[in-house]
Amino acid sequence: MTKITNHMPTKELQALDAAHHMHPFTEDAALAKKGARIITRGKGVYLTDSEGNEILDGMAGLWCVNLGYGRKDIAEVAARQMEELCYYNTFFQTSHVPAIALAAKIAELAPGDLNHVFYAGSGSEANDTNIRLVRRYWDVKGKPEKNIIIARKNGYHGSTMGGGSLGGMAGIHAQGGLPIPNIVHIGQPHWYAEGGDMTPEEFGLVRARELEDKINELGADRVAAFIGEPVQGAGGVIIPPSTYWPEIQRICDKYGILLIADEVITGFGRTGNWFGSETMGIKPHIMTIAKGLSSGYAPIGGSIICDEVYHTVANSGDDFNHGYTYCGHPVAAAVALRNLEILEEENILDHVRNVAHPYLAERWNALADHPLVGEARLIGLMGSIALTPDKANRAAFASEAGTVGYRCRERCFANNLVMRHVGDRMIISPPLVITPAEIDVFIARATKSLDETYAGIKADGLL
Ligand code: PMP
Repeated sequence: MTKITNHMPTKELQALDAAHHMHPFTEDAALAKKGARIITRGKGVYLTDSEGNEILDGMAGLWCVNLGYGRKDIAEVAARQMEELCYYNTFFQTSHVPAIALAAKIAELAPGDLNHVFYAGSGSEANDTNIRLVRRYWDVKGKPEKNIIIARKNGYHGSTMGGGSLGGMAGIHAQGGLPIPNIVHIGQPHWYAEGGDMTPEEFGLVRARELEDKINELGADRVAAFIGEPVQGAGGVIIPPSTYWPEIQRICDKYGILLIADEVITGFGRTGNWFGSETMGIKPHIMTIAKGLSSGYAPIGGSIICDEVYHTVANSGDDFNHGYTYCGHPVAAAVALRNLEILEEENILDHVRNVAHPYLAERWNALADHPLVGEARLIGLMGSIALTPDKANRAAFASEAGTVGYRCRERCFANNLVMRHVGDRMIISPPLVITPAEIDVFIARATKSLDETYAGIKADGLL
């Protein structure tokens, strides 16, 4: 077989991709007909495809390449670690320096008494850990029946059996027998789509109090934990009303429910603080982390665990019967540690707070004046715009949800910009290192794409 390289014609690469590579979250037969866009390299905020196009990556991959593409200093750390110790496990009374150093660094950065790290290979795996961990915690406490986890509709926590069950995505639940037992869902704090005539603040309280109602319905002695993303990402970058998280915190405290913050997207600077929990003013018992932990340079995730949960499980007198071959993988851990050091050395959080966010906010929020845009929201460097045929009423399109969003996404891709759509909401999460000049390119391409979408749907009678 000939060696398959970047230099092959795009069509040949697409054909091989279609023949042998089954894509995640994809209708593969449809993609095979169209052909995948082949990405060949990345530098800073730009990707290059096999046709030589330079694409501005407004999503940082899947919300993960926070330091941007192509950092030699991280590659060198990975190469060095592969030579020194490419792999060893941490199951059987052994440990290694990358796992130790990274855990110590994460404990230093995490707020409060979140001092303990259980590693995973991804966000989904880490949330599977969390399900088993909180149930184990209450079991050790003598309350094995306190095992229900409350999550939210339209939340996203991964696509394993556990992660997909915690998530509240109807499309995921519809395939493969999810959710697993004893996971229940309450409404999301999505004011724009569901808030009706209420103010955002009123609506935030109403949605938070669904948690209290659910706890009362089930009995607090049956509820182990509540899990939520500080800012919903895959659900459409839903920034909750200011009243929401304080009320959730009050309810968790009142009823003795563990609070799990899924920081897979919001962790490590995305919202302008180290963690989204700090931005939202909450104090979780457990945080889920992945993505920005390594800026996507290596697959790694984990759970950051508070003293109380850790000590209870650690002192149970028995093993915690859970783990993955690649827990704390030395190369991934070394890469993640270097990533965190760079975030500090290069003052990336200051850049987000004082340069990139203010500049992007000014330009992004101005998109709300576009005839197709109902609202523009941005927190740190994650944002969304709602596409609508009727600004005043926050109305949905008559076409099937996602039709216009998909068309806009396609215009963006044609204009060498990656913006993703969730239904008819466009979402962004650019690398944290993005500069004002790059933001100008971003907004110019986004505006052109919105204009073309608007003209296209008008011409096709979708408005
Ligand atoms: N939690 C959240 C909040 C996420 O956004 C994601 C991924 N988009 C996950 C969990 C799952 O992470 P992974 O894809 O690494 O399993």
